[in-house]
Amino acid sequence: MEINFETMYQDLGISKEVMDVGNKIEQELLPRFQAFDKTAEYNQLKVLRAMQKNRVSDGCFNYASGYGYNDQGRDTLEQVYADTFHTESALVRPQITCGTHALALALAANLRPGDELLSPVGKPYDTLEEVIGIRPSKGSLAEYGITYRQVELLEDGYFDYPAIEKAINEKTKLVTIQRSKGYQTRPSYSVGKIGELIAFVKKIKPDVICMVDNCYGEFVETIEPSDVGADMIVGSLIKNPGGGLAPIGGYVAGHSELIENCAYRLTSPGLGKEVGASLGVMQSFYQGFFLAPTVVCSALKGAVFAANLYERLGYGVIPNGAESRHDIIQAVELGTPEGVISFCKGVQAAAPVDSFVTPEPWAMPGYDSDVIMAAGAFVQGSSIELSADGPIKPPYAVYFQGGLTWPHAKLGILQSLQHLVDTGVVTKEAFD
Ligand SMILES: *Cc1c(COP(=O)(O)O)cnc(C)c1O
Repeated sequence: MEINFETMYQDLGISKEVMDVGNKIEQELLPRFQAFDKTAEYNQLKVLRAMQKNRVSDGCFNYASGYGYNDQGRDTLEQVYADTFHTESALVRPQITCGTHALALALAANLRPGDELLSPVGKPYDTLEEVIGIRPSKGSLAEYGITYRQVELLEDGYFDYPAIEKAINEKTKLVTIQRSKGYQTRPSYSVGKIGELIAFVKKIKPDVICMVDNCYGEFVETIEPSDVGADMIVGSLIKNPGGGLAPIGGYVAGHSELIENCAYRLTSPGLGKEVGASLGVMQSFYQGFFLAPTVVCSALKGAVFAANLYERLGYGVIPNGAESRHDIIQAVELGTPEGVISFCKGVQAAAPVDSFVTPEPWAMPGYDSDVIMAAGAFVQGSSIELSADGPIKPPYAVYFQGGLTWPHAKLGILQSLQHLVDTGVVTKEAFD
């Protein structure tokens, strides 16, 4: 039987003209998709080799409760992460509740009163402002007498080396480098660029700890920041490395001594890694990590597809359609509140979960404008699953990311465009 995509897409609410423009963009992107597939192939082999080397067996998926002494699944998984990221050690736990927690843990565990933290890449991710104490908060590093310094980026979004050299002093203990731009307009950094920055910092002060916030970056390239001199890399399991299956969790991977400090901080001095039962989540952690390289590949295809589609229609997109990729985030500047709202409604309508729900802009804690969020995810808040959000303020940009499979990412983006067409934000002329 002949495959009839037209009817199938029509049943899902996608018109022929939207499907056609999507297919055209997809055709043009095939060489880039092939390059993403090659990265996924390499990373898949990396993960497989680490799993085989560490003799992962079904015993690793057993339920462990209580103190969690000798939790074989947990300990083996940490070695699988360490081998994949080429680090001495790793801490991968469901007790690490999210990415912010993992970053706060890595910082608090390795800084002491009187030490100084330096960000040579400008302002860190929003939630870290309270962790550091840039915005005063209970329990911040500032409350414990840890100072903070920040070097602003140059106009091109890259590093101000002379200012960084000046900022490093006898108190500087840890340098934090954020790989993904998050919700800023600066570029996301390639692992190569991060390596150059680390080498520069280490030349000035060899014993300084270089930490990389690796959120949204894992498996986008064939190397990770830990391959270019980072002493610690940190991330969330409901983003890339969880592969969409991990229901919670975070990781820190790096030098043994630093990871040991993290373990003592997470549980208790003296106990460290020895406690912390894995409570039945191990199969999803392993299976998610196994799937992560191809899931990230799907998300990357979605990101460049959206960039090229919306660029073609005349919108500003960051990164642009041709740029190389260093994380899975795509920003589209729609320019109007209606644009942002329609886009998010389209993404929501394409979801496997809660597709019947209509997202609306809402006041959110920590934001100075209403925010609209589209998420129809299996894991609440998971942003490796297709998701979009946008603050209702100029330049009226949506940030979207994820997609466990390429066909779903494609449908989500077509659906966003269909909503823009249906509400009159995008007109027929834009297709020409
Ligand atoms: C998502 C993210 C975080 C925080 O992770 P949460 O899980 O949301 O707490 C930190 N840094 C970057 C760059 C991120 O993308």
